[in-house]
Amino acid sequence: MLFGGSDGPHVTIACEPRQVRKEAAVSGNAGVVSHSMSVPLAAGREVAQFEGGCTAKDFSIHGPPYADPMDPLPTANALDTQSGIWTEHPVPHFRFPLVSPYPELRHAVFTRIGGTSRPPYESLNISYQVGDKRHRVSRNLARIRGILMAERLVTMRQVHGTEVAVIRSPDQLRRRATPVADAIITCLPGIAVVVRQADCQGVILYDPQRRVLGVVHCGWRGSVAGILIRVVSRMKEAFGCNPGDLLACIGPSLGPCCAEFVDPAIFPQGFREFWRDSTHLDLKAVSRHQLLQAGLGKDHIQISHICTRCRTDLFFSYRGEGITGRFATAAMLDPGGQRHATDHR
Ligand SMILES: [Zn+2]
Repeated sequence: MLFGGSDGPHVTIACEPRQVRKEAAVSGNAGVVSHSMSVPLAAGREVAQFEGGCTAKDFSIHGPPYADPMDPLPTANALDTQSGIWTEHPVPHFRFPLVSPYPELRHAVFTRIGGTSRPPYESLNISYQVGDKRHRVSRNLARIRGILMAERLVTMRQVHGTEVAVIRSPDQLRRRATPVADAIITCLPGIAVVVRQADCQGVILYDPQRRVLGVVHCGWRGSVAGILIRVVSRMKEAFGCNPGDLLACIGPSLGPCCAEFVDPAIFPQGFREFWRDSTHLDLKAVSRHQLLQAGLGKDHIQISHICTRCRTDLFFSYRGEGITGRFATAAMLDPGGQRHATDHR
């Protein structure tokens, strides 16, 4: 980690060249080159910059349409500005260019950086279930809520199943406890759906025609069970979405470099083409394939090739670290956006 530089003060976190080559080699993506993301801070403040080759070219970490965490803070973020902590600890996050042009959709893939938790949960851990102090997790979640300027966060009790919770009204949120599900679909603005991850995939699905959002937790068990296909099907049933209109973003998660399984027999024959060798499976390619099967267009799917296990400097990795935190993928329909979805109950 370096401080300072010719273009003013900044923080650099470099990806090890060994990891870069490994990742690029297994991704099979000729366009995989080094990336550099910088996050401008408020005037006079330092700039946080990440450099490396772990294929983050499909990400952007810049500004609008909602407040960049490094911008001067709007009053909506008062929870943390009151303490003064916020401005001392910027909260970088990634965004997908595929869905960034839609101002009615706010989304972010947070890293492990910018939170309050101590090792082994340092620092933006959002899970109460991993042994971290509750008050620190609450503060971390408050930061995420502030960045998205969400009225509230909605999480799931993720069980590696295929249950899809459908949220249609604020009443539902008042009545219900945390849904036991691995996906939430909604047409309701103002609520940020949050997935907790440490190697599993966080997948954002968005229908810009009907303005319907889906956020999915997909680990290998979810892949086997075909949760992505099920989510697309539920978006169609519940809100009349046309799969051809959907956009899908698959975030940082276990890459084929590290998705090692000692018993490939636990996976269906249909996954055969996605094995990179006798023990390494390309789960991101599996997800892409399943989304195509569900009716999405080739150009409507964006995949981050960042491997969480290779990049424990940026993300939590259960496989890499064992006892560790969980990072967040979050998305929300903007409360100012007009609601288009028709309820198809
Ligand atoms: Zn890896």
